[in-house]
Amino acid sequence: MTFSSIPGQSEIIGKLIRSVKEERVSHAQLLTGPEGCGSLALALAYAQFVSCEKRSETDSCGTCKSCVKYEKMIHPDLHFVFPVVKGKKVAEPVSDNYIAEWREFVKKSPYFSINDWFDSIEVGNAQGMIFASEASEIIKKLSLKTFESDFKTMIIWLPERMHHATANKLLKMIEEPPEKTLFLLVCEEYDKVIPTILSRCQLITVPSFSNEEIKGYLRSTFGTTESKSSDIARIANGNIIRAINLCKIDESSANNLDSFKKLMRFAWKRDILSLIEWSEELASTGRESQKNYITFSLRLLRENLMLTLQQLQNNIVFLAGEEADFSEKFHPFINKSNIYPLVNEFNQAYSHIEANGNAKIVFLDLALNVTKLIK
Ligand SMILES: [Zn+2]
Repeated sequence: MTFSSIPGQSEIIGKLIRSVKEERVSHAQLLTGPEGCGSLALALAYAQFVSCEKRSETDSCGTCKSCVKYEKMIHPDLHFVFPVVKGKKVAEPVSDNYIAEWREFVKKSPYFSINDWFDSIEVGNAQGMIFASEASEIIKKLSLKTFESDFKTMIIWLPERMHHATANKLLKMIEEPPEKTLFLLVCEEYDKVIPTILSRCQLITVPSFSNEEIKGYLRSTFGTTESKSSDIARIANGNIIRAINLCKIDESSANNLDSFKKLMRFAWKRDILSLIEWSEELASTGRESQKNYITFSLRLLRENLMLTLQQLQNNIVFLAGEEADFSEKFHPFINKSNIYPLVNEFNQAYSHIEANGNAKIVFLDLALNVTKLIK
């Protein structure tokens, strides 16, 4: 991760670079800032910069032996500690039990919440933390000599979720650090980190991204339009994680609406060939997005029935933008006599998809049944 890939935070980046140039890299630093401020990305870029063999005035080179390993997060002198969850793998897990998943996940994007991380390792609502068992792992790793770098770096993501026994062991390490060790702690809830650790770390307060920075990031990463990225940046209010999620939701509902329109148009025209094509297209997307499409369709059916029943004045129609434009013309096709069988068809499709039914068959069945119901 290079500094230049972070869409902002130039003031913090400037400070971090100066500390390296002036050879006053503090051995324990705690980056603290609200969710979605990019603090983990900053820690990764800083660690890479410190270790880079050919760094420039403003960034790591990205191509030396060290940088290449840092980009893949497999450098032998780079260690990670992060919250994990009991159960699936081992009763008392440590970060290394999940290191392969962690590397893959962070490589995709360094902007994620703790729930995003837990979702990715499929742990549902389990309570994750940095367990007591992690303490001996930390000591073991830091007592090793460095392999390739001048520094051993340990990035600790969310130290506020650390078991107190681990925090106490870590405290001793920070007080009497092994030679050439750099601790980078990345926290979101500053007041939940134990005070004795806080007082021994150099604090770096990371502000939220600006709306302009978020906007630029959405434009360049997702190709979002000017007005859409302005809207999302305003709602995200400096939280890049929220901005990314809003962008994805927006994208998927646009796709869902498009797919719903096609189904209804082909069904009304009795265009069987196009319906086959439609079902194949939908079957080629993942199971989660198929379920997401069905949920979307059920909501749109309900909204259109409400329009037909002229409930607009009762404030129970929740449509805006393109959905509203489409529904204005479409709603007469949804009425008291076909709503129940339609909802039933979509619900059945949902159950079949969930039970691993063949998606092509499920969606073609759905399409043919909708043909009978839309007149
Ligand atoms: Zn380099």
